[in-house]
Amino acid sequence: MDKKSSILIIYTGGTIGMQRDASGTLVPFDFNSIEREFPSVRQLNVHIDVHKMTPIDSSNVTPALWSELARTIRDNYACYDGFVVLHGTDTMSYTASALSFMLENLAKPVVFTGSQIPMGIMRTDGRENLITAIEIAAAKIGDRPIVPEVSLYFQNRLFRANRTSKVSAEALSAFDSRNYPPLAEVGVNIAYNFDDIAYPEGWFDGAFEAEELRIAEHFDTNVAILKIFPGISEQTLRAVLSINGLRGVVLETFGTGNAPTTEWFIETLSDAIERGLTIVNVTQCTGGAVAMELYETGVRLQKIGVISGHDMTTEAAVTKLMWLLGETLSGEEVARRMIQPLRGEFHA
Ligand code: ASP
Repeated sequence: MDKKSSILIIYTGGTIGMQRDASGTLVPFDFNSIEREFPSVRQLNVHIDVHKMTPIDSSNVTPALWSELARTIRDNYACYDGFVVLHGTDTMSYTASALSFMLENLAKPVVFTGSQIPMGIMRTDGRENLITAIEIAAAKIGDRPIVPEVSLYFQNRLFRANRTSKVSAEALSAFDSRNYPPLAEVGVNIAYNFDDIAYPEGWFDGAFEAEELRIAEHFDTNVAILKIFPGISEQTLRAVLSINGLRGVVLETFGTGNAPTTEWFIETLSDAIERGLTIVNVTQCTGGAVAMELYETGVRLQKIGVISGHDMTTEAAVTKLMWLLGETLSGEEVARRMIQPLRGEFHA
């Protein structure tokens, strides 16, 4: 690292922000004292500022927090080389996916991290996650950041954020990205997988021209995630699809995008699509992709206009859908953008 990088840590809450006070109670950690608590941070040759939002458990996250986060990044964009967002693990993949869509023309690192064990507990995983996230957010070759996208760092691996899911409530390796390789793997050194990081045109050869960071602030929450299961009733399906104001559904199907072929199932979905609902098919499996053309059970869905989510996570699909529906776009335009990878969120 040549010139000292400036990093803004944005603290939103979650386990990483907790420490024990004198009486043993878990209380919020003061990130302003990070350099005092972790002197090793000083060796990173990084200037750090901290922006504290009202700390919440991430189960309470709503799109209002995503907008506040995006605005904070936009308003501080010119002053920092990178951003580290500290977030509860429970919904971190949703927030990080949402931010990947909201931040248009992003050319600086935004690294999400958190921890499974509070910062103030001896065995915390938060210290390593935080310090490495700062190092990654600050890492440059020349004056170019090495990871200019929204990423998520957890337990030795850096992922593209919108490819992640929380996969364990117990293991310290709580996140995975089953359909996309890590952007970096951390051992004694940080090994960046340059071929898998998304770079704007001309990034390392000097031809890159920065465009203004624009943020989308509106999400339409009139969506549902519907996980099908053997035995799902017509009543249940109809009830969900007839919710007043509903505009989009992420349908979690079996295997490569398969669902029952019974008439009532197909007709109920088909009616909803005719009424203007956008229905996106993602698989319930943690890896692999939807390929509706493979089995009759998928072909039926394709024929009535269900959109393939390819190998997108549910977190990416639902945040992308809310984001697109939040823009003033026609139904055709929502569908057109849904089937295009806009931030590397799926592989078609
Ligand atoms: N419930 C916490 C949260 O998501 C868990 C964590 O931070 O790991 O905010």
